[in-house]
Amino acid sequence: MEWDTRLVHEGQTPDPLTGSVNPPVYLTSTYAQSAPGRAKGFVYSRTGNPTRAVLERVLGKLETGAGALAFSSGLAAAAALFMAHPSGSRIVAGDDLYAGTRRLLEVARSHGAQVDLIDTSDLENVRRAFAEGPRIDLLYLETPTNPLLKITDLRGAIEIAHAGRAAVAVDNTFASPVLQRPLELGADIVLHSTTKYLGGHSDLIGGALAFRRRALLEKYRWYQNTGGGIPGPFDCFLVLRGIHTLGLRVRAHAANAARVADFLNDHPRIARTLYPGLSDHPGHSIARRQMDAYGGMVSAEVKGGLPAAKRVLRRLRLFTLAESLGGVESLVNHPALMTHRSVPEEVRTAQGITGGLLRFSVGIEDANDLLADLRQALA
Ligand SMILES: *Cc1c(COP(=O)(O)O)cnc(C)c1O
Repeated sequence: MEWDTRLVHEGQTPDPLTGSVNPPVYLTSTYAQSAPGRAKGFVYSRTGNPTRAVLERVLGKLETGAGALAFSSGLAAAAALFMAHPSGSRIVAGDDLYAGTRRLLEVARSHGAQVDLIDTSDLENVRRAFAEGPRIDLLYLETPTNPLLKITDLRGAIEIAHAGRAAVAVDNTFASPVLQRPLELGADIVLHSTTKYLGGHSDLIGGALAFRRRALLEKYRWYQNTGGGIPGPFDCFLVLRGIHTLGLRVRAHAANAARVADFLNDHPRIARTLYPGLSDHPGHSIARRQMDAYGGMVSAEVKGGLPAAKRVLRRLRLFTLAESLGGVESLVNHPALMTHRSVPEEVRTAQGITGGLLRFSVGIEDANDLLADLRQALA
């Protein structure tokens, strides 16, 4: 089946009780038992809820894995993932991470895990990490990264990690399963902030983990129930509704982002444009191999640093100044002052998260209107 058909149908049969074409929203915390310990499949809604079960089934199929677990946010999913790596574990992760993930890794470090952040877009760094120091338990990757849109060769990194007996988790939030399927490339775990493209309408906070193998799914089901960071049934329903149009939306996001990237790349007031679809992007050929399109996120550095960037932000009209991404509406973010403010300044500067850097979540509006807005803001 093709993607647009799968997104509408896969894992989503009409409700067997009533024929309802949408999954009922089961607003219940508990379930009646006919005798002690004898329930009809559900016991308590932290452990399992029928609406969440539909979402988990659908997410597992979209990431082509053994199954998935839904969480109350992307970071709740990441917390469950890192919770399974106690004191003495070693986690190696990319150095251009979602800032909240970086904060969580600080917590893992304070609990006694060894955490090393490296630039995984160069596989030599991954090889070196595995060659030096204690055994690595988990390699945690983001590609494309946030906000610098660096690309990691997933197949290459996974091969190195598996040779060193490490598990590999990939944050697939920026790509969505429509554009990139890390489990098919050998990854063990995929993480999502369903807040972004999967939900797609900026109306919920949610997260998920998907697994290649059933044993790992069952291990993390225990951590999901124990940590308790589960989504409510109505948020599960909203993610399921968003998934129906994921293919249409992601194609529109990517087509508009390509137009925006070309426009910014040619603009005299822009020092550099970061978009994996641009042929001069260092990760372009890898992105072409492992992604079906280059996604809806574009970053660009305005010449003149912070004052020039602030001027552009004041003038933009269609791009709302806000954190988050992946909704139908276009957003613009200033990473150094907003999403990545918690990253130490010297780390930010060394990585290129400068005062002039803007990150655009390109929406599904008409591209000509978006370009006109950028043109007047940069004039
Ligand atoms: C937003 C985001 C997260 C965190 O997800 P929340 O739903 O905000 O907790 C993690 N990774 C990436 C790449 C994100 O964009």
